[in-house]
Amino acid sequence: MGRSRCNSGASVNLAELIDTVPDFPKKGINFRDITPLVASPVALQFIADKLGESALAAKAEVIVAIEARGFLFAGPLSVTKNLPCYLARKPGKLPKPTVSESYGLEYGAAELHIHRDTPLSGKNVFVVDDVLATGGTALAAAALVEQLGGIVCGYGFVIELSGLPGRQKLQGQATVRSLVKLDA
Ligand code: AMP
Repeated sequence: MGRSRCNSGASVNLAELIDTVPDFPKKGINFRDITPLVASPVALQFIADKLGESALAAKAEVIVAIEARGFLFAGPLSVTKNLPCYLARKPGKLPKPTVSESYGLEYGAAELHIHRDTPLSGKNVFVVDDVLATGGTALAAAALVEQLGGIVCGYGFVIELSGLPGRQKLQGQATVRSLVKLDA
């Protein structure tokens, strides 16, 4: 994407703040490293503004953030748009009883959990993560939301990897917003 303005008036080019690390964590994967982006408060605010616009347009009432890098973007979004944020976490991290979903990754297999008592029932939920690749992670988060009676109204990502089926997998009733499209 080109330069855009955030609410503070700053000009942000997100793509310039994303490093690509070839063959990490295994050969053939171009890892998109967001370290420079997270080091930029202006970029974080810009992302919160843009994903927040999509969340409100989708009538979101709460956010579900995906561990770990999704947390970095969901926090500012939650504050900016006054939306409660709940955490979908990797196994063994949450202290209370959970519901869980298994899923496949671009580079392996994984599981997501959320506290069983998370108040999502009847709520419109906006799911947030850093990268949309194959869509397996976001779909697992959506399945957790649905297990608890929530309705996924939208998904927000900073980066979408093109050439992978993520967007097709997620599109349905929910809107899918990404801020930068990069090759897988
Ligand atoms: P997926 O389930 O295939 O859509 O993968 C999305 C999840 O895996 C996100 O939580 C990302 O943090 C991570 N991920 C997948 N591919 C990449 C990549 N090329 N660079 C950085 N993170 C990635």
